[in-house]
Amino acid sequence: LQPGVPIEPGTELPLRADQAHYLGTVMRRAPGDGVVLFNERDGEWRGRLHAIRRDRAAVLVEERLRPPVPEPGPVLLFAPIKRDPTDLMIRMATELGARAFWPVQTERTNTPRINADRLAAIAREAAEQCERLSVPPVEPLCRLGEALDRWSARNGAPRLLAAIEPWHADGRAAPPIRDWRAAAGTDDAAGLGVLIGPEGGFTPAELDALRRRSFVVPVSLGPRVLRADTAAAAALASLIG
Ligand code: SAM
Repeated sequence: LQPGVPIEPGTELPLRADQAHYLGTVMRRAPGDGVVLFNERDGEWRGRLHAIRRDRAAVLVEERLRPPVPEPGPVLLFAPIKRDPTDLMIRMATELGARAFWPVQTERTNTPRINADRLAAIAREAAEQCERLSVPPVEPLCRLGEALDRWSARNGAPRLLAAIEPWHADGRAAPPIRDWRAAAGTDDAAGLGVLIGPEGGFTPAELDALRRRSFVVPVSLGPRVLRADTAAAAALASLIG
């Protein structure tokens, strides 16, 4: 459910039109059928469809199934790519536990705009599908330098793992992400971020700027050039658990 809609036992909650359509028309649910509701603040609840029409539905809230749990995964900073791979990146990263999305504009970003509402809807659907209780927020697009400044202002400036191909033109090898993971202490891993570049990669000036920040850790994701959406999924998968 959208943030700000409290879930309380015994109350009747109206659903959005798209949710009513999905339950009634796509899933063929009827009054009396059970549904599961969640939001970040109240956790997961069992409810029962009370009324359902074409684009309207209400649920009677019954009992709590799971309390809210904070999402400890990394923040994903990424340069937006074409629409379909960006959608896929958001979906996979939500399933893989990303805590939030920070779209960043780099010098070689070919897609200088994002549709934040669309990406937020994809994140919400992915959260529902994988049964996580929080939907990672999508922050407004900002320039890479600005994102690094914002990151350094965060409490303790947590590590930001910058995915950089190991053979990249600046000739300085980035160690494998798994090695960093194996060596990292709990403090290093808390509040972590992962940065994925655009299809054209980072420019030499951006690589210099990244390496000058003390909280940035360059990491490699193996010997092949991965598409940016694959790189995001690979990085998050190697940090899970
Ligand atoms: N030709 C580009 C270059 O040389 O940077 C390739 C960019 S790649 C398609 C898009 C992004 O995915 C890169 O900027 C990087 O962040 C990440 N990436 C892809 N493969 C990687 C690898 N093997 N190791 C680390 N990062 C990788």
